[in-house]
Amino acid sequence: MTPSRAASRGRAGDGVNSISPEQVRELVQSHCRDIPDFPQPGVVFKDITPLLADAYAFGQVIEYFSDYLERVGAELVVGIEARGFILAAPAAFHTGLGFVPLRKPGKLPGVTLRESYALEYGEAALEMHEDAIRPGTRVVIMDDVLATGGTAAAAADLLERAGANVIGMSFLIELPGLGGRAKLPARNLECIWTI
Ligand code: AMP
Repeated sequence: MTPSRAASRGRAGDGVNSISPEQVRELVQSHCRDIPDFPQPGVVFKDITPLLADAYAFGQVIEYFSDYLERVGAELVVGIEARGFILAAPAAFHTGLGFVPLRKPGKLPGVTLRESYALEYGEAALEMHEDAIRPGTRVVIMDDVLATGGTAAAAADLLERAGANVIGMSFLIELPGLGGRAKLPARNLECIWTI
């Protein structure tokens, strides 16, 4: 256990680590809600805000991801804007690692690398600072939901162009019917709740 995780014992981490992966999955399942037809008709949006608002459930999720980061030997944690930040930053801190944001275009002030990708309707892109990651660094990508996999695949491509060694990806929720997993390279893929 890293010093920061050890130091956190007795605070938010009281009693954490003592529940099973199955129990963490049940917490995610019971604290996320479906919002039909958001942001557009036909989409069932997985709303994670009730999970974030519950200190115990949120803490267990961060503990779960921190265990994962240690297990795979991550050296840096990358979050995808915006909900990926909410998970990646506390897990990075808790594990004693740094955090790098992948942002929507035009948000980062320095020189950036950009990766564009197709959405169901239209296009999107992610950016990162070109000097954010030392070549060869073992990074893990984090986001809330794995749907079609386009976002995570673009994130992995961008990081690899920047010289990172993408050793894993983790998500709260996987929607397997959309085939995202098949778009991602076979690296340690961790999804707490595969629906
Ligand atoms: P995709 O690129 O299709 O895998 O979509 C993943 C990205 O879109 C993630 O950043 C998610 O936050 C978001 N997303 C896609 N589908 C959903 C959904 N049904 N509920 C919540 N977020 C979603």
